[in-house]
Amino acid sequence: MSELNISENVCLAPYSTFRTGGPASFFAEPSNEEELKEVYRFAGEKGLDVFILGNGSNCLISDKGFDGLVIRIGKLMGDITHEPGEDGLVYVTAGAGCLLSRFGNYCADLGLEGAEFACGIPGTVGGAVFMNAGAYGREIKDIAVSVRYLADNGIKEISAGECGFSYRTSIFDRKQANGEQPVILSMKAALKTGDRVKIAAHVAELRQKRTASQPLDVPSAGSTFKRPEGHFAAKLIEDSGLKGFALDDSGAQVSPKHAGFVVNNNGAASAEDILRLINYVSDKVYMDSGVRLEKEVRLIGEFGGEG
Ligand SMILES: Cc1cc2nc3c(=O)[nH]c(=O)nc-3n(C[C@H](O)[C@H](O)[C@H](O)COP(=O)(O)OP(=O)(O)OC[C@H]3O[C@@H](n4cnc5c(N)ncnc54)[C@H](O)[C@@H]3O)c2cc1C
Repeated sequence: MSELNISENVCLAPYSTFRTGGPASFFAEPSNEEELKEVYRFAGEKGLDVFILGNGSNCLISDKGFDGLVIRIGKLMGDITHEPGEDGLVYVTAGAGCLLSRFGNYCADLGLEGAEFACGIPGTVGGAVFMNAGAYGREIKDIAVSVRYLADNGIKEISAGECGFSYRTSIFDRKQANGEQPVILSMKAALKTGDRVKIAAHVAELRQKRTASQPLDVPSAGSTFKRPEGHFAAKLIEDSGLKGFALDDSGAQVSPKHAGFVVNNNGAASAEDILRLINYVSDKVYMDSGVRLEKEVRLIGEFGGEG
């Protein structure tokens, strides 16, 4: 197995920003598309379940880990290039493993506007396409032109229109829910040239807003819940008196800084502890407001009652 670079029994906690997660039976971090295809084939031959992991910044990974092959798309698959188009736009292509912050800064350094929102999101380009990540009124949907991905029947490239982007979801999310395992390889984005100084100032302003309002120094997966139609999750949670709330001393807590974030203080809580709190918050908000919060955070692996 070593020529394929697949490890066995790898603890996933370091690969999740929540800092939870037991072992993956198999774990691979391919450094290029060829290696990725080989590990993908290996999983098919062995009949293994596959999970594609980016930066693990939107995942709550089970304490029992993942019984199958985790393929982590890391920075070795994160090349980034650009070329001017005949239409005056600049086309930036980023590999799935490229961190969004790097992508956003690359665009800003070139004086390209429209990707500033990406600078503070701690995911990869692949995870951001999958989730249609966004912030401060902009999302991946606004800049993506096309996406290349690997499926059972080879590599495909589809237009952004075919990606089925809507609020924090995409066609890749729906395919995964159907048991398929598409692997996003790269995204091409179109951006227009702007004023480099203004763009840098915009990046700094958004970073400042984020630092002021979010608990960035504590493990979490960002917003725990999606924004319910016509409401804000954080406001509903605060109205239920749950800002700063903890069920026990496990370390799982509704952030006292931002009620929309469940945090894992000191990384001490288990995934089950965190999920128990998430479910408690969801039920209490439902009882108080009639609004059912939907998890934005994805549960990976098996949990007590939920998998
Ligand atoms: C402090 C903090 C702040 C955050 N702020 C924001 C924010 O402002 N806006 C926002 O939208 N999100 C935010 N998030 C959540 C998270 O960063 C985004 O959802 C991000 O897009 C997830 O990317 P990832 O690479 O970490 O994906 P992961 O968490 O690794 O995976 C998420 C999903 O994408 C799939 N996936 C990942 N990579 C691929 C790939 N290459 N091919 C196929 N499927 C793939 C996984 O299978 C999984 O289902 C925040 C998180 C944290 C911790």
